[in-house]
Amino acid sequence: MRLGKVGYYGDFVVYPLVIVGVATVAFWRASPEQFATTMTALVLGIGIWTLVEYTLHRYVLHHLPHIKEMHDGHHNDQTALIGTPIWLSLALFVGLVYLPLLVLVPAIAGGLTAGFMAGYLWYVTVHHLIHHDGLGRSAYAYRLKRRHMLHHHFDDEGNFGVTSGFWDLVFGTDIKVRGPNTPRDLAKD
Ligand SMILES: [Zn+2]
Ligand SMILES: [Zn+2]
Repeated sequence: MRLGKVGYYGDFVVYPLVIVGVATVAFWRASPEQFATTMTALVLGIGIWTLVEYTLHRYVLHHLPHIKEMHDGHHNDQTALIGTPIWLSLALFVGLVYLPLLVLVPAIAGGLTAGFMAGYLWYVTVHHLIHHDGLGRSAYAYRLKRRHMLHHHFDDEGNFGVTSGFWDLVFGTDIKVRGPNTPRDLAKD
């Protein structure tokens, strides 16, 4: 939904603090034997996030009534401050990730949740920089920007992954293009 400046940019201030806090507590509580498990859970959380990011973008942002309209708003006005309110994303992370893990597998709850939120922060940061020309000029930045611009301007049923193209390759939604950048060179294989 459309957010004010504080709501939109709040993610970039609050999430680093929350992630560092949750990860610190998780490692603090872990016994020496659990240290590697906590580390693995953190990395796993980031990986799981990339799949959730793909799934949410493909099935929720592009198909769920009301949410689809809000996401259309982003497609139509790419620099508008549109995002998920921080109270909602935090509530979802606590209610759907941390608490269930705490009940089912407490040993990895903190580490996995910290990794998962780090993945989310990585996503909102990359997506913001793509649309505000802040990614720099590296080959990696160019590739991320190009694949997301193809989603916006060429085929919004492809390239759902923003931080990586991995799941698009796995599920066959990777947009294949020939030639460099001019629209007439864009063609599906
Ligand atoms: Zn976008
Ligand atoms: Zn989209």
